[in-house]
Amino acid sequence: MVAGLDEKLEPIYQDVLRRNPGETEFHQAVREVIETLGPVLVKYPEFAEQKMIQRICEPERQIIFRVPWQDDRGQIQINRAFRVEFNSALGPYKGGMRFHPSVYLGIIKFLGFEQIFKNALTGLPIGGGKGGSDFDPKGKSDCEIMRFCQSLMTELYRHIGDHTDVPAGDIGVGEREVGYLFGQYKRITNRYESGVMTGKGLSWGGSRARREATGYGTIFFLEEMLRVRGNSLVGKTCIVSGSGNVAIYAIEKAKALGGRVIACSDSNGVVVDRDGIDLDLLKQIKEVERRRLTAYVQEKTSATYLENGCIWTIPCQVALPCATQNELTAKDAKTLIEQGCIAVAEGANMPTTPEGIRVFQDAGIAFGPGKAANAGGVATSALEMQQNASRDSWTFDYTEQRLKTIMVAIHRRCHETSEEFGAPGNYVVGANIAGFLKVGHAMSAMGLI
Ligand code: NDP
Repeated sequence: MVAGLDEKLEPIYQDVLRRNPGETEFHQAVREVIETLGPVLVKYPEFAEQKMIQRICEPERQIIFRVPWQDDRGQIQINRAFRVEFNSALGPYKGGMRFHPSVYLGIIKFLGFEQIFKNALTGLPIGGGKGGSDFDPKGKSDCEIMRFCQSLMTELYRHIGDHTDVPAGDIGVGEREVGYLFGQYKRITNRYESGVMTGKGLSWGGSRARREATGYGTIFFLEEMLRVRGNSLVGKTCIVSGSGNVAIYAIEKAKALGGRVIACSDSNGVVVDRDGIDLDLLKQIKEVERRRLTAYVQEKTSATYLENGCIWTIPCQVALPCATQNELTAKDAKTLIEQGCIAVAEGANMPTTPEGIRVFQDAGIAFGPGKAANAGGVATSALEMQQNASRDSWTFDYTEQRLKTIMVAIHRRCHETSEEFGAPGNYVVGANIAGFLKVGHAMSAMGLI
């Protein structure tokens, strides 16, 4: 028996453990959702009869395939790729592709599972899916990246489509990779099907503000959490883990709204810049030159680099984990609170461990879970699909305004649901239940699917 689950939910969780051995991240993501669903089964007993939780925990389809490719020395390399099509009750499967050596089925399933609820929360017609590969893009040439993407798409193309499954980016997959993937899809199918992928470049079907969307959206969510507590971001010291797509644009919006961002990181270390992170320099290093974060302190010698340092030891009022799963532990959470942290918004997916979340919640600080706080990326991807379908292209300001409206609505939905189900201000409960109800009611209406 695992502590904390009631007698109806425990067997469901045990079954997930038995059916998905070794997939620890997936177990963690499932547990975090189902431990909040007790009150839902009380209010809607039909969901228990319909085995709705068990059905949602089982992906509709899982695809695993070989990706052979040749490196620049002519050597043959073999990677493994995944696409998990988790739930299509609300629309085509939607979720990014991750390229990172740590990728295996358990990671893709945790991400796909979270994506179901996140996408439901946006209020847009998108189901949940995720994909990726254990390919490591670090140190690869442009040509190697292209050959890998082309090989991957040579299999993936038969499983995706603008009404079926619409991949996008994630860790290790940005506009460059989406370009190579989309180009190969177009070539193989002889169809210019813009809506088959999102995160495209602006000149070939991409949406303005998509690049910024996840980071901006996280800050919009944070702003709402602070607002309902009678507070704001103005003058707050912030730290942001990671220095990729989500981190960079979280920093940008936090600064624009009056925050002072003094630190960011990558998997090798932490940069602390007491003058405030220099965004132009960071973008130049990460987006243009694709260099490591150590380059920041080479260019700006007054900043400090902590090799293998832990960013959560830097005192702050707002912490924004924007790198990867389980990067913020209970110990880190305690340190943050002791040093004055009052709010955490997750730009990354599941960056805080379950024990870490408990520490934040027990301390009563504002905690925005990733499936709500980082939903701005996928929401803007759905806006990209809308623009593609109508062959239209919106302005940056209009798209950003739509993003903001969506994030405010997600915050409100989570907040109201947390109150309705007896846990006011608990955004984990609010996000899980609001997302589950939307998907559950849709599946219920469609019969046994
Ligand atoms: P990027 O590849 O652009 O950046 C990832 C950043 O996180 C890099 O700084 C990277 O450092 C760091 N990182 C990655 N893996 C690890 C690790 N194992 N340990 C320490 N640091 C690590 O990815 P994104 O910014 O797109 O994604 C970041 C997070 O946000 C992920 O959790 C992703 O799932 C989530 N997310 C992304 C969305 C998007 O629109 N892109 C949407 C919603 C969520 P290094 O370069 O050293 O590896």
